Formats: sequence, C-alpha cells, structure tokens
Amino acid sequence: MASRPSWRDRAFVVRTYDFGEADRVIVLLTKDHGLVRGVAKGVRKSKSRFGSRLQPFVDVDVQVYPGRGLSTITAADTVTYFGARIIDDFDRYAAACAVMEVAEKLSYDQGDPELFRLVQEALTNLQTDMHPTLVLDAFILKATEHAGWGLSLFHCANCQAPGPHKAFNPATGGAVCNNCRPTGSMDVDPETLHDMWLLRGGYEVSSSRVAQIHRASVQHAQYNLETGLKSLKIMEQA
Ligand SMILES: [Zn+2]
Repeated sequence: MASRPSWRDRAFVVRTYDFGEADRVIVLLTKDHGLVRGVAKGVRKSKSRFGSRLQPFVDVDVQVYPGRGLSTITAADTVTYFGARIIDDFDRYAAACAVMEVAEKLSYDQGDPELFRLVQEALTNLQTDMHPTLVLDAFILKATEHAGWGLSLFHCANCQAPGPHKAFNPATGGAVCNNCRPTGSMDVDPETLHDMWLLRGGYEVSSSRVAQIHRASVQHAQYNLETGLKSLKIMEQA
C-alpha cells in the first residue's frame, strides 16, 4: 500500500501537549491543509531546535507526513516570529490567545488561506501600537464574516430599516431597530456599530468605545461559535 506523500505548508501552532516520553503533539492551523494534529518526535528529549520553533505566535514552514490518526511533523522553519511584543504583555498575550482560539474554532480539515492570512494580520497588528482588544475585535469581525456570519451593522438585521440603530442582537444578526429589537438585545451607542463596521473594513478606530465594541464582538463570536471561549473570559476579567 503506497503511503500518502508528505507535504509542506505554512502553519501556526494552536496548542501543544506532551505525548509519550519525549514527544509532543502539536495542533497546527495550516494555510492549505486546515487544522492538523501532528506529533513532533523527540522534541522534549534535548534542547531541540526543531521543537523550539513549534511555539505559539510563530509563522512556521512545516513538513508533515500524514498518518492514519496522527501525522508526523518532521521539519519546522521559522518564517516570522510574532512573540516579541506579545509574550511579555498581558493584554497583547490575552488578545493573541483569543485570536488563536477563535481561529481554531473557525477552522476545519480543509485549507483556508484567508483565515490563515487574517491570523497573520492580527499577530502583525499586535506588534504595533494598535489597541490589542481592537485588534482582536477586528479579527473576530473579519473572520466570522469570512465564515459566513457577517453582521448587519447599519441596517436593521431583521427588517432592513436603515440606521443608525441603538441596539445590537447577535441572534438577529447585528443592529436592530426599536420596532424589531428582541428582549435581551444589548443597548449600544450607534457610533459603536459604526466603529465595528470600520474595524471589519480594515480601518482604525479610536479606542474610546473599546469596551462596548468588545462586548458586542464577543457576544457575536460566542453566539455563532455556539461555545464560550476560554481566552475571551480571561480578557473580560482583566
Ligand atoms: Zn427592524
């Protein structure tokens, strides 16, 4: 039986866990092969250079031999290291972890180069002076729209009445007018919805409404991913 050929791809490490005596399982978000679980052999035995590249917040070029259950990662070369401004700063670190967690939940077993690009973009922006929470929210808004859960941020998501509106409801799909607003909708400043629209479009916004932007973005992500997000909970407490 012919074995499946190995492949190379770009990847971010999403999670790692120890496996056996010396190995580590690495969960990778790859550009062209989706979410891949691979074992990196022997990386805990010595000061493995190969193992040290398989860290979070590094864009790596990996070689993978597909297996029936677990694949094997045989090479990893650093393309870009994004950790510098992330690992010593709590807000940036929490935002970067949340980006990876949302990306993992949005990924599947097929490649999604656009999702990969959005992760790269968010980690790049976390190296700048942009507000880290807004970098995360921009990522959430873009990545969920790419996944098919685009929000209506000006027109009422229910009756399409033009805004600006003062309420937000993730189950309805975004802005809701006074006539349509279901109970439990979040009161928002219309400027917040406009800021979210700008962030999704790749524009920068001032950080004066960051708390409300973040609450609405997180509600939207959690509603659509049908799950609480661990790293987002940590950010809310911060
Ligand atoms: Zn309406």
